[in-house]
Amino acid sequence: MRVLKNYINSTWTTSANKSTVKVMNPATQELLAKVPIGLGSESDMDDAINSAHQAYLEWKKVPVLRRVQPLFKLKGLMDENLEDLAETITLESGKTLEESRGELMRAIENIETACGTPMLIQSEFSEDIASGVDEFMIRQALGVTACIAPFNFPAMITFWFLPYAIACGNAMVVKPSEKVPLTMTKIFQLLDQLDLPKGLVNMVHGGKEAVNVLLEHSLVKAISFVGSSDVAKYIYAKGAQNGKRVQAQGGAKNPVVILPDADIEMTSKIISDSVYGCAGQRCLAASVILTVDDKKNSMREALYESAKSKNTGFGLNHGVDMGPVITPESKARINHLINLGISEGANLLLDGRAHEVSGYHEGNFIAPTILENLALDGKVIETEIFGPVMSLLHMSTIEEAISFINKSKYGNSACLFTSSGASARKFRNEVMAGNIGINIGVAAPMAQFPFSGWKDSFFGDLHGQGRHAIEFFTQTKVVIERWPKEWSRKF
Ligand code: NAD
Repeated sequence: MRVLKNYINSTWTTSANKSTVKVMNPATQELLAKVPIGLGSESDMDDAINSAHQAYLEWKKVPVLRRVQPLFKLKGLMDENLEDLAETITLESGKTLEESRGELMRAIENIETACGTPMLIQSEFSEDIASGVDEFMIRQALGVTACIAPFNFPAMITFWFLPYAIACGNAMVVKPSEKVPLTMTKIFQLLDQLDLPKGLVNMVHGGKEAVNVLLEHSLVKAISFVGSSDVAKYIYAKGAQNGKRVQAQGGAKNPVVILPDADIEMTSKIISDSVYGCAGQRCLAASVILTVDDKKNSMREALYESAKSKNTGFGLNHGVDMGPVITPESKARINHLINLGISEGANLLLDGRAHEVSGYHEGNFIAPTILENLALDGKVIETEIFGPVMSLLHMSTIEEAISFINKSKYGNSACLFTSSGASARKFRNEVMAGNIGINIGVAAPMAQFPFSGWKDSFFGDLHGQGRHAIEFFTQTKVVIERWPKEWSRKF
């Protein structure tokens, strides 16, 4: 079985590290590839950082209008290869083909937005701050930047950062998730076709040993991390301690509040798409559903019916709504949390634990599950499940729901379903989360907007995407100039 190569200094290289882990299809347990991981990847990472630094020294001098030209070509290549990339995402991550296409579309939107860097990078100028004195600010590249990605979006997440980083004049080293390294390998085959300086973009496989080199190397100036909160916190602390700029996106447990004036059919459908899309393995997945004043249980029943109707199976097959979870360990962890929720007093309204998919008995499948009335002082209510499990709570007022939401340690997103403008306004104003959806199930910001997590869902200041990315990947320099007539040469 092939062992995946790194892409260092624009060359496909065999890792110095001989130990590997298997990359498996989570629906079939078919072995797809092996990826190098563990001790030994440090020297790969070191080579990648040094190559990136050399490339940056040349690239930063290239005018920004020329720096964005390769991005136009990259967009074309991504469009042309969309179906092949989507299939690879489905094979290694388990999500449905439609979901894989959707993630690639968002990746492409980020390339398109980064093509606007010549405008976005423009800065401020004040003439005559004092007599004959002008002041202005310029944005300059940082140097070598790094992206460390999680498993759940094998393509998209790197694009919250990479197109902006290089358009701003930086170089980048990408460390994909060891669970889904195939998609990024294919994307680097496309990056290889661009007219970029040797070593400007690099990909190094590995795990925490490789990441630790990024955190400690003096040539790495900025780190963009996306993954679980504990690791995000570690990356942020260690990176900052070593003088790096860090943006670290963490985990989530996203609440959705349904007011009694919400449309039952539409709301229940949108919410179950949000909870069970990507088998619940989305950082913006709805996780805790709070009905308000659902006296006749009509919303509860609609949510149940909608969840029950989801077809779980292999993501490449027609008619499948939801794929498997990523690994057998992940399946065991989710089942453990469901059991724990029950032991803490929850009612198992819908049980997906023992779900069998015909022809795919080895797959890591869990069908849609609903845990109702979880204990508010229990462990599960505050734990990110990251699987196809809805936690359903019933509340009396919107105030009670908002107060519940604001106690969470996470703040990635919060959504409200209502037909009342006043309630929507109150919700968006009072809720402590960085991405708000009103009658939207997955409040994922478009590429022009920052991906705005709060609390333990984000460590840092500037987020990924759009203007925030431009600011993150540049450092400001303020210049004050005086040109007295008598000091200037006369012609
Ligand atoms: P993870 O934290 O296990 O891994 C993320 C990356 O960090 C991987 O590349 C991994 O190799 C590396 N890593 C893991 N442990 C490390 C360690 N001890 N030291 C250094 N590096 C380490 O996350 P995951 O399981 O791949 O992804 C799922 C998590 O990501 C969920 O918590 C999810 O909510 C979160 N996520 C958040 C967002 C967001 O925007 N906030 C988006 C997607 C996923």
